[in-house]
Amino acid sequence: MKPAILLIEDEAAIADTLVYALQAEGFEVVWRALGQTGLAALAERDFDLAILDVGLPDGSGFELCKEIRKTSEIPLMFLTARASEIDRVVGLEIGADDYVAKPFSPREVCARVKTILKRSRGTAARTALFQVDAGRIRYCGQLLSLTRYELGLLQVLLSQPGRIFSRDQLMDRVWGDADAFDRTVDTHIKTLRAKLHQIDPQRDPIATHRGLGYSLQLTP
Ligand code: CA
Repeated sequence: MKPAILLIEDEAAIADTLVYALQAEGFEVVWRALGQTGLAALAERDFDLAILDVGLPDGSGFELCKEIRKTSEIPLMFLTARASEIDRVVGLEIGADDYVAKPFSPREVCARVKTILKRSRGTAARTALFQVDAGRIRYCGQLLSLTRYELGLLQVLLSQPGRIFSRDQLMDRVWGDADAFDRTVDTHIKTLRAKLHQIDPQRDPIATHRGLGYSLQLTP
């Protein structure tokens, strides 16, 4: 099956060039010109990667990225037009996988897309203990019944197995607010753990790092 890419870009000339180049490389491309229609497309079906323009008529690509990250860990790449935007992509932890600055060569975008997809497939293989499909997660083959926040936490941890996420980072990515009480994260991790434990009492894939945060460990 062809990898599917969602392109959210309001400038038709840029979108056309990219759609053409990506299709020539064997990708299926869906183009949306607005953040809102892009979100709707993401809700309708699965994509392997999304490319977001930072400057969209109905909001910034950064806001859109935040919105997408509430429910999805799809690989994201930004198209930026200004150096100040690049600083934000690089400097802030907004959950993007890569960016290219305009003007860019379509060939470069295609190469970056392939690199990101290769990397995310590697992650997919490592996370076979968990299977993610259309926003639902199976653990050891069993569908997990999770609350919105438990799901969010697990999705963030699954995005980079082995990486330690601080409570603030988890709070920011899942709740979109780093100022709430630290306990909130701990409470939801506890209930999430209990659900995983029910399925396989032998394993505890969520590791606590005292004073640092939590990580997902896929090897016992
Ligand atoms: Ca634009």
